[in-house]
Amino acid sequence: MRYFWTPFPFPQSPPITGWADIDPLFGNHFTLGDGRVVHRGEKIPALEKASDLPGVLRQRPQFCGDLIPVSAHGTSLASLLAKKDWDAIRKPLIEERSNSCEACGRRQKSGLNAHEIWEYHLPEHGAHGIQRLAQIKILCHHCHMMFHLAFANLQGKWDETVDRLMRLHRWSENQFENFGGFVEARRDTFNRYSWILDLSIVQSVDTLHLDKVWSLHPELDRVICAPGKYEGQGTRYAAILGKPWVIADRQFPAYPSPLQVAA
Ligand SMILES: [Zn+2]
Repeated sequence: MRYFWTPFPFPQSPPITGWADIDPLFGNHFTLGDGRVVHRGEKIPALEKASDLPGVLRQRPQFCGDLIPVSAHGTSLASLLAKKDWDAIRKPLIEERSNSCEACGRRQKSGLNAHEIWEYHLPEHGAHGIQRLAQIKILCHHCHMMFHLAFANLQGKWDETVDRLMRLHRWSENQFENFGGFVEARRDTFNRYSWILDLSIVQSVDTLHLDKVWSLHPELDRVICAPGKYEGQGTRYAAILGKPWVIADRQFPAYPSPLQVAA
């Protein structure tokens, strides 16, 4: 079986020609991924990794993404794993990033979020797509909201979150409207499928220990389920590829993912 994936079509951002193009909302100092700090007006030093530059200082920030399909609500890595395993994945990433937000370069001692970036691979036939974990980004709470606009809206933070998203990417109103249109269209397509999780890229944990809310499906092989997370959500279902996993002391091997994607 073949799967098809369409990369997220990030809208273009106008070029940065000087510090005046960096919105004052983001302040006057920016922590790089390697821990050094750049002050507004200074020359940006040479970087070992391009990703050490916070998004707000990049020509193409790309700190937005797909809306989560309804059929995949509550099956994130953070929702699947026992806290100990999730901590073992996210804490080293936060440290590696020198406790700073990858999007805005704000440094904070605690409260940084690990945001999972997923790719939705559509099947050639049938109703089961593969949702592949592609990356985990470390973000401050405000920047994290830019990836969860529906949630920001529920929290009464729509205006400030959209404002931040537009300023960070240097977008016009028109560009934001365009963005809103195509993310909804993509999500409508994704909503027609159920999703199998490809967790092959997780490296810091060998065997995934699932949170105790999950149990084995009584009939379906390798399928796990958990009660809904919010009012009105039915039972959550998930299946894992690419990593061995343990549920209530029963161990399952890593079922290989059919996706051929460079890690
Ligand atoms: Zn931030």
